[in-house]
Amino acid sequence: MKVIMYHYVRQDEPSLPHFRHLHIDDFRLQLDYLERAFGFIPKDKFLASITDKTAPPKGVVLTFDDGLKDHARFVLPELQKRNLFGIFYIPTGMYQSGKLLGPHRIHMLLGKYGGEEIFGALKNIVSDDMLPFSSREEFKTLTYRRHQDDDTTKLVKRTLNYFIDEHYREPVLDKLMGQFFPHESEFARDYYLSPEDLKKLSAEGMMVGSHGAHHAVMSKLPRAEQEEEITSSFDLLEETIGGLSPRTYCHPYGDPLSFDGDTLDILKEANCLFSFAVEARDVEKADLIGRPQALPRYDCNLFPHGQVRSLAPLS
Ligand SMILES: [Zn+2]
Repeated sequence: MKVIMYHYVRQDEPSLPHFRHLHIDDFRLQLDYLERAFGFIPKDKFLASITDKTAPPKGVVLTFDDGLKDHARFVLPELQKRNLFGIFYIPTGMYQSGKLLGPHRIHMLLGKYGGEEIFGALKNIVSDDMLPFSSREEFKTLTYRRHQDDDTTKLVKRTLNYFIDEHYREPVLDKLMGQFFPHESEFARDYYLSPEDLKKLSAEGMMVGSHGAHHAVMSKLPRAEQEEEITSSFDLLEETIGGLSPRTYCHPYGDPLSFDGDTLDILKEANCLFSFAVEARDVEKADLIGRPQALPRYDCNLFPHGQVRSLAPLS
């Protein structure tokens, strides 16, 4: 069983020349390819295999992260046309804050202004004492390895996601957004699926799961804060949709470095049936038995037509 992960699926936006996204035309071509090459697994067969821990059926399962409005605009209609189901993983923090979540603020900053300009501004805001995790060798060398980003862009992402003390992240991003996007609140709401969209996804046979509250690197947080991230987001989704059956979760960032043993324990205790990480291999029966809270999942860019585009050339 191949589980594939998607994020932005949209059309080009001239005001965001550096914004990396999977173009809707490429998404359609990739679905055509996946159908021909592997076929898709129906929801009942997928859930039966997970629940019974039997050998996973052959074929593809599609997942969509981050609760993006793209998923109501472009993805849902395409899945419905093809009679496919998808799993949508929603971070819930933005429903309370009215601001974009950290990684999406970074995408907007980089998408409009590019790595060099944002790095220049970032240098004026952060000091070394705010970056206690910058000496963690694995964060330096093992994150964003397969991303098609230039080195400066990767450094901006590593600094703001991995190196920074989680408690400084929001204030630093507040400053950057104040400088570059003073009208954030005007477009923040339309960036994400609305509560009505979530209900619709569920009513149309899609699965909805938790992606934590604030898209935090959980391995940087103490256990109690991880627990709050996970349980508050399940609670909010259940309240919005009227129950999740079953509970499923996907690790923010998804890299095995982004979560730890506490995260997996909390998920099990929260009666989460299964969770996805990011690891480029098929889900096997041994995974369902031994590590159901960190199942492997492929990035869509590992398959034909799955490369992100931007209007400005990728440097
Ligand atoms: Zn995510």
